[in-house]
Amino acid sequence: MRYCPIDLIDFDDEVDECTECGGPLVEGSARESFEDVGEEEWVELDPLPGLAYAKLVKEALEGEEIPCYIEALLAGGGLEAGYYGTQATVMVQDSKFDEALEIQQGMAPPDDDDLLIDPDADDF
Ligand SMILES: [Zn+2]
Repeated sequence: MRYCPIDLIDFDDEVDECTECGGPLVEGSARESFEDVGEEEWVELDPLPGLAYAKLVKEALEGEEIPCYIEALLAGGGLEAGYYGTQATVMVQDSKFDEALEIQQGMAPPDDDDLLIDPDADDF
């Protein structure tokens, strides 16, 4: 896995540069940028309909001082079809999960807002 140290996005190995900023990727995972959070487990929030939206959620979480990064998922036809990042998942620390999920679910997706966020999914 590779990641963009600027955007904190993990990409698959076949991606050579960041699809967001065009910068070079670094071997490893963006979670390595969070040295101060130690070995705490990272968990996924609900999948989002695109990198652009995942970045909005990440900004909102950062505004609440919740450490987070994005995993971009290769979907559909891959890079050549221009499909890269059609799905993305925001990763947060286990201890921040409930707080982060509430923030994410409080944000309406740009389109099709009932497709990916299930109002019944937060039953815990
Ligand atoms: Zn980038």
